Amino acid sequence: MTTGNFKDALHRFKEGQGKIKALNYATSMLFWDASTGAPKSGADARSKSIGTLSGFGYREVVNEQTEADLNLLIDHLDELDEIDRVSVLDAKREYDKLTKIPMDEFQAYNELISKSAMIWEDAKEKSDFKMFEPYLEKVINYLLKFAEYRGYEGHPYNLYIDDFEPGMSVDQLNVFFDELRGRVVPLLKKIIDKGDAPEVTFLKKDYPKQKQDEASRKLLGLMGFDLERGMLKESVHPFTMGVDIDDVRLTTHYYEDDLASALLSTAHEGGHAIYEQNIDRKLQPTLLATGTSNGIHESQSRIYENNFCKSHAFISHFLPYLKSAFPEPLEGIDVETFYRGINKVEPSFIRIEADELTYSLHIMIRYEIELGLIDGTIKVKDLPAVWNQKVKDYLGIIPKNDAEGVLQDVHWSEGLFGYFPTYALGSAYAAQLAHYMGKEIDIEACLANGDFAPLTKWLNEKVHQYGALKKPNELIELITGERLNSKYYCDYLEEKFSGIYGL
Ligand SMILES: [Zn+2]
Repeated sequence: MTTGNFKDALHRFKEGQGKIKALNYATSMLFWDASTGAPKSGADARSKSIGTLSGFGYREVVNEQTEADLNLLIDHLDELDEIDRVSVLDAKREYDKLTKIPMDEFQAYNELISKSAMIWEDAKEKSDFKMFEPYLEKVINYLLKFAEYRGYEGHPYNLYIDDFEPGMSVDQLNVFFDELRGRVVPLLKKIIDKGDAPEVTFLKKDYPKQKQDEASRKLLGLMGFDLERGMLKESVHPFTMGVDIDDVRLTTHYYEDDLASALLSTAHEGGHAIYEQNIDRKLQPTLLATGTSNGIHESQSRIYENNFCKSHAFISHFLPYLKSAFPEPLEGIDVETFYRGINKVEPSFIRIEADELTYSLHIMIRYEIELGLIDGTIKVKDLPAVWNQKVKDYLGIIPKNDAEGVLQDVHWSEGLFGYFPTYALGSAYAAQLAHYMGKEIDIEACLANGDFAPLTKWLNEKVHQYGALKKPNELIELITGERLNSKYYCDYLEEKFSGIYGL
């Protein structure tokens, strides 16, 4: 190959990445609009437009020229700088993912997914797993078949974990969840046995929406989110959209009879948003200007939400402000009562309503089941019984029906296997990062002063700036000198909740 060809290929590659970025931007705006107040009557027109734009995107990624360029660039990897090299390798991964599966099977699978998501909704409403069972069976058969087409090392589930958390494996996750099972399950049992439930009624009084919105903005400002380069709106389900370093949007949801929900959603999404806002500008024109994985992204939301905002130190700073904004419902509430209330542990059936301690156990249940379904040790028809047994073993409660049990999450109906573990990884990465941050910064003192600046700056330097340039294992090792280590997470949970419950 001549150098000229190689330079042309690199030029075309960068141009193509720019087009994909523009298409992503447009699609995201349609989605943002739909979630934050666009007229319902436009739903059909919007979804048609999204479909057309995705078609453009697909043709931009999958075509003979792109394939030839990618192959040429892969042959010249050592002549590329780090940004181009990682961009090319990411694009090649994406290309293989899209092309190794025969087109007709991929289309049939997509049709199955949209059908199965609809059936799931119906099955959940009727609380009838039998309705959903044949669809889930088909989805899993496709995933197993696709794993053969795509190729994998070791366990076929490795492939699906890798889609959301590059480099993570069943071996690493087994070690992680084994420690969690061994330490968090007994900790929860001790808390339940103690029977000392914190007071929470003050959180469920009358909290006007307008005042909650002000409090959310105040909190975002303290955390270090730049509202000049982003915006906060309300949607049914809170989410963050980082379409560009200079255009990062997040949502929360206000309930007028609940103070904690919107504030904690704002803290959570704010963590995601601060990550997206602080990526190095040299990555801005590339597709690397985003979080590196679901797990690392989730670590940034969890560290602000749980490790920082739900800490005793920060509450001691923020409560006086909250009491001035909501004098009546918070009358007579002291820091200790607020701290214990907002950190209350209570086993529940629904994952998205779970507290900080039991949340990871919900994820462990889904991990064990996904692994079993993929390696054949769990049969789809046995799922309701398997589910209920695990909920009983780990959380000590038994779901009344399939709707509050095995049918509660949409993920499996959409073929999203390997996604759930990243939620627990996020909390574990957060604890590991906070541990190492604590060696350099007095975190408690900063939070007690409401001074997030040193904490956010540390995360900017260690995590945010790299965007997707460093992959999760590499990034965590670079910052902490070791790979994911569940010890820090379990230590953190034991210390925090033993303190709250006086164990
Ligand atoms: Zn999140």
